[in-house]
This record gives sequence, C-alpha cells and structure tokens, in this order.
Amino acid sequence: MREITGDAVEQPISFFTARPSGVEPAAPERKGRFHAMAKPIGSTCNIDCTYCYYLHKEHLLDKHRGRRMESSMLERYIRQYIEAQNGAEIIFSWQGGEPTMLGIDFFRDIVDIQKRYAPMGRRISNDLQTNGTLLDDDWCLFLKQNNFLVGVSIDGPRELHDSFRMDRKGQPTFDAC
Ligand code: SF4
Repeated sequence: MREITGDAVEQPISFFTARPSGVEPAAPERKGRFHAMAKPIGSTCNIDCTYCYYLHKEHLLDKHRGRRMESSMLERYIRQYIEAQNGAEIIFSWQGGEPTMLGIDFFRDIVDIQKRYAPMGRRISNDLQTNGTLLDDDWCLFLKQNNFLVGVSIDGPRELHDSFRMDRKGQPTFDAC
C-alpha cells in the first residue's frame, strides 16, 4: 500500500479534464442507438415538492454562468448527439428541474437546430417531462405541432398531489397542472 504523504494530501483530485478549446472528439466509428436525458436548465424548478432530491443540486453548478444551457452548447449537444448515432430514430429527452422555465423560444431553437442537422431518412423526435404548471395554449400548440411526447408529473388524486407537490409559497399545485 502506498504511503500517503503530506504532499499527496495537498494535491487536488481532478475528475474532469478540460479539452483544449476548439478541439472536439472524433465521432465514434462504431455507432449505435442510445438515449440520454438532457437537463438544459439544470435543477432549477418553479415548485418545491417535498420529496425532491434534485433541487439542491443547483449548488453544484457555477452560479455565475447561470443555469440555462448556452445556445452554443445547445447546438453542439444536438449536433454531436445526432452524429453519434445511426439508428432509424434519434430521441431527445428534455428534463429539469422544470424545462418549460426556459420558454417556448428555447424549444423552437431546439427544433430548428435539429432540422439543420437531421440526417436524410432518419426520424428525430423529442420528449419533455414537465410539472405542467407553466403549460398554456401556446405551449400546447407548439408541442402538438412538433410532435413532442409530453410527460406531466401528477401524484394521483388532488389530496395526494397537494400533500407533496407544493409551490415555493407552500401552495398546492394540482389545479395549475
Ligand atoms: S417538479 Fe420535479 S424538479 Fe420540480 S420540485 Fe418537483 S420533483 Fe423536483
């Protein structure tokens, strides 16, 4: 067993290594099909469910950069996600926190970028998990027109839902979703 010296203890352990800017890893030669969830607003959410294990993860992110995925990162993510797969269907999953806090225009950009990089003859689809509290007619129209598969988080009947899924002021959210 290696002896731990004072020097060794002072060395920071790095789990993430920065790539030189402008250099991207080559797309893998053997491709396949996979499915990853993206959280473009991190753990930010407009409500405060009693059992949420995720809200406090916001402390892991750099406060000064904001919680919103930057547009350049969004484009790079979508392009690389498409390039890394060769199945007949490519499925994007958008989750939070609460992803609708990003606004419809953020999701319009997503669809535009996907169209720009869509390979011929392959289907690109999207799913969205939301607490439903910010959905209005405009959102519903957008989601319908773009064939999003939408999951709305509801905890059963009102009395159960409102026992656990409260807003930031401790008010029930059943009627809002
Ligand atoms: S809606 Fe989801 S992310 Fe938001 S507080 Fe509830 S469990 Fe957490």
